[in-house]
Amino acid sequence: MKTSPNKAALLVRISDDREGDAAGVNRQERDARALAERLGWTVGPIFTENDTSAFKRRMVTLPDGSTGLRVVRPQFRALLEAIRVGQVDGLVAYHLDRVARDPRDLEDLIDVVESVRIPVETVTGSLRLSSDSEITMARIGVAIANQSSRDTSRRIRRKQEELAEQGRYGGGGARRYGYDRDGVTLIPEEAEVLRYAAQRVLEGASLTGLCVELDQQGHRPVKAERWSSKTLGDQLRSARVAGLRVHRGEVVGEAEWPAILDRETWEAVQVALDGRRVEGARRELSHWLSGLLFCGLCGLPLPANFVREGMHRYWCHSGRSKGGCGKIAIHGPGAEQEAERQVVAYLSRPDVADRLSEVTSRRGAERARADLAEDEAQLRELSRMWAEKAITLDEYAEARRIIQARIEGAKAVQLAQVPEAARRVLLAGDPGAAWMAQEPRAKRDTARVLLGSLGYKGWAVGPHDKSKARRFDASRMALADLGEK
Ligand SMILES: [Zn+2]
Repeated sequence: MKTSPNKAALLVRISDDREGDAAGVNRQERDARALAERLGWTVGPIFTENDTSAFKRRMVTLPDGSTGLRVVRPQFRALLEAIRVGQVDGLVAYHLDRVARDPRDLEDLIDVVESVRIPVETVTGSLRLSSDSEITMARIGVAIANQSSRDTSRRIRRKQEELAEQGRYGGGGARRYGYDRDGVTLIPEEAEVLRYAAQRVLEGASLTGLCVELDQQGHRPVKAERWSSKTLGDQLRSARVAGLRVHRGEVVGEAEWPAILDRETWEAVQVALDGRRVEGARRELSHWLSGLLFCGLCGLPLPANFVREGMHRYWCHSGRSKGGCGKIAIHGPGAEQEAERQVVAYLSRPDVADRLSEVTSRRGAERARADLAEDEAQLRELSRMWAEKAITLDEYAEARRIIQARIEGAKAVQLAQVPEAARRVLLAGDPGAAWMAQEPRAKRDTARVLLGSLGYKGWAVGPHDKSKARRFDASRMALADLGEK
């Protein structure tokens, strides 16, 4: 690698998210030039970016000619091109976050820097790409910066939604289903429809099926002739129906309008609907281990896969839309039997029963919610400290890892309070028997709660040991931790 560039590119960026930023463009340029001078580099072209919407993405053409979704940064793209064609032979910038906020931008930069081998320096020393460990540090730094930008944009979006809601509210717009035009008076029949729909969702009914049912019964949404899963889902997801006021994405208390669903039911519905979004719009769940088995090689979930009538397997599907490695498959009924055996054994352990009774109690749920809010606030504070360089990247990474693990745990507990069917099993006198009597979807929910409360997300399935007989080998299934990829 050439160590003293004679036409190093200088990248400065006007960032929108730090008011009163001491490192304004002029200062960035001055400091970067001073650094170049110290290093004995000669500065060539200067690339000035003015980004006002750091997180809007558009389809762009990448250096290798393919296309992909990226934050639109024409100057950054021009810089990559200049590096690629040898127009510049070094890069100097102010700070890592001025170079890349989107991890994919960083990857594009790494690609081009590695292919032409040029040195990269920043005034703050936060970005160098000349060794694997420097590349790793840069990746971590960008991932963190990306996270805090996303948090910011999420907060802004929520605020906008909230304002929009308040604006419409009482402003004579479309009325909300379940409430009169004043937004406060209940319409009893509609409220009843929402309660019924919530109950059915908790029992495992699909939104599509429910829409047909409501249409047949002659119930109509506010602005359409028929129900759609989206309309119905939106109604059930809205915090309004739980009589809650939302501020900055957090429930800040009771609203002035009456609730249609009590908070516990409403939260249970959110979890039930979120769980489904992951598995997509499918019919009845027939193979309950879907979503609980993961590939021991690539980590992806193993979907159930039809083999022949009455026989299925869980396979790391390598189809184009699935993207699995195709190398791991396990006999369906065998895996289900083994998982069932483990679940029932857990259900009969006294320590598990204790933990679950806490988890399924309202107080456990309240506490988990409070813990979660606190951990998330700490994480935001940490990323602020890192951004202001009050802590080092290593300190940040370590603290973040610890808090992230706590958040996973709190989420598991929070999740655990909800699925109605799971609660019934867990509180039954004989949980093992109650488990066996469940429908597949309820089995899956219960297993998820149970495993989650123990810190597991399911089982990782290892490769088949060819030295063993073809018989089903239960030792291929190993419990996988929640935090594991
Ligand atoms: Zn795989």
